[in-house]
Amino acid sequence: MADDQRRHAGPNDEDPPVGLDPYTEFLDYDLPAYVGSTTFQKLPFLTDADALRARRPDVAIVGAPFDDAVSHRPGARFGPRAVRVASYHAGSLNSLQLDIQPFDWLDCIDAGDAPIVPANLARGHEVIRRKVLEVAGSGAVPIVIGGDHSITFPSASAVAEVVAPRRMGIVHFDAHADTANSTWGVLASHGTPMRRLIESGAVEGRNFVQVGLRGYWPPPATLAWMQDHGLRWHLMTEIEERGAEAVVADAIAEALDGPEVIYLSVDIDVIDPGMAPGTGTPEPGGLLTRELLRAIRQVVGRVELVGMDVVEVAPVYDVSEVTASAAHRCIMEAISALAARRRQRGEDPRPTTR
Ligand code: MN
Ligand code: MN
Repeated sequence: MADDQRRHAGPNDEDPPVGLDPYTEFLDYDLPAYVGSTTFQKLPFLTDADALRARRPDVAIVGAPFDDAVSHRPGARFGPRAVRVASYHAGSLNSLQLDIQPFDWLDCIDAGDAPIVPANLARGHEVIRRKVLEVAGSGAVPIVIGGDHSITFPSASAVAEVVAPRRMGIVHFDAHADTANSTWGVLASHGTPMRRLIESGAVEGRNFVQVGLRGYWPPPATLAWMQDHGLRWHLMTEIEERGAEAVVADAIAEALDGPEVIYLSVDIDVIDPGMAPGTGTPEPGGLLTRELLRAIRQVVGRVELVGMDVVEVAPVYDVSEVTASAAHRCIMEAISALAARRRQRGEDPRPTTR
């Protein structure tokens, strides 16, 4: 990279570039966010399974552009593309909160999308499962951009398969429990993935911890099933009373009560719809964006993260792109916290090579 630094300039160089050819002076990575590559934060695009296994990235972004399982407003199929480009930054990023430049510490790539086609629910879930299996099997932490929340069943199932025999807990931020047995008779809707994960044995109910639930769903019979299966959940009212940090600390301890590793699932509708309107089932009275970003730093900073998803971003309901922008930052907070953990453990940096 030393050669590149002599031949190329960066957007934030202290000294303006002198004597470089303007046609080539900036690498694609360093060009403005609206120019050139549309991968997540212009990370290298690496979709081939063999190439993934050879490179063994630390983190891989995966798109799951699938919304065939929604119960109300559709549009989350456009989430991955919107979230990938929902940033105005170019070049190296510097987390002020964690005092780290994450791409200097972790090899991060964009593994592209699962090969979804419309109107085929079973096929969609199967190709998402296989894509996440490929990525997690390469040794990378998959960070999956949904898509409706039904994608968490194939995604977390694939990660659980890769980490076995280690047991996995799940921390789930959402306005909704997503633990129905069926919605209008459909077992694989976005209201049911958490029940499917527990029934399949991918995760034990007692290590499935939900944060931010509120509103008018699920009904008592579903809550009774959750209680019977040992799920633990923290309502928004508890967060209002105790503060998010104390509640999230409890959620981490509960999810790790047995398991060694954590899958983090973030439904963007856990944020108040005033701050994240671009979603399918907006539920008033949610988290502040800053509380969710802090909570993600808290979780990822204290556990061994093996997979993550950020789901239910439906950009069409949000002309100002604040929802996609919040989702982008959820992912960046996780990557930055993973980088800070690597530094804290005294491991050598493994910068993203381009
Ligand atoms: Mn959900
Ligand atoms: Mn939800």
